[in-house]
Amino acid sequence: MKLVFATHNKNKLKEVKALLPHHFEILSLTDIGCNEEIPETADTIEGNAILKANYVRDNYDLSCFADDTGLEVASLDGEPGVYSARYAGEDKSSKANIEKLLKNLDGKKDRSARFKTAIALTLNNSEVLFLGICEGEITAEKRGEGGFGYDPIFKPNGFDETFAEMKLTQKSEIGHRGKAMRQLIEYLRE
Ligand code: IMP
Repeated sequence: MKLVFATHNKNKLKEVKALLPHHFEILSLTDIGCNEEIPETADTIEGNAILKANYVRDNYDLSCFADDTGLEVASLDGEPGVYSARYAGEDKSSKANIEKLLKNLDGKKDRSARFKTAIALTLNNSEVLFLGICEGEITAEKRGEGGFGYDPIFKPNGFDETFAEMKLTQKSEIGHRGKAMRQLIEYLRE
């Protein structure tokens, strides 16, 4: 069965292909000839995942799943949230995003935050949404060389290390994306 993963990211694709049952043929956006950027114009993380999955279904008539992730910081009223990638501007610089977040949190006592991944699946005529959440806090400064995005300043609850100081396998086990992916895989296996 053909299933599109609405991404151009080869690393994400490889990870997902390794996890899914073999009777699913996983295709990327590039594989189906979709070279445009799918507009992410919704004002929620869930909305953007749904928008991307529906775009592929409507324009290519193929079953699809799409993911969207954001970091929600409690004392900033859930910011950067759906704007996580562009928090410090359109060039999507992780370094600038981290600097802006640390500056905005300067002097605040409550540094609690959570990562949220939404995965939307359109399969045959149904639409299903899976959510993966990882609670933690924003550190005072960057720590660690691994990971990407906000990983150097996010410390999950119950651990001393930031995501950037952890092995990828450990991050996947406790992290937001891994949690949402495992729900999707479970659903597809059934
Ligand atoms: P996307 O929805 O996967 O494109 O992620 C949106 C933005 O959130 C990215 O540009 C990253 O800055 C950030 N982000 C997403 N996932 C993670 C993660 O696992 N760790 C750290 N930052 C992330």
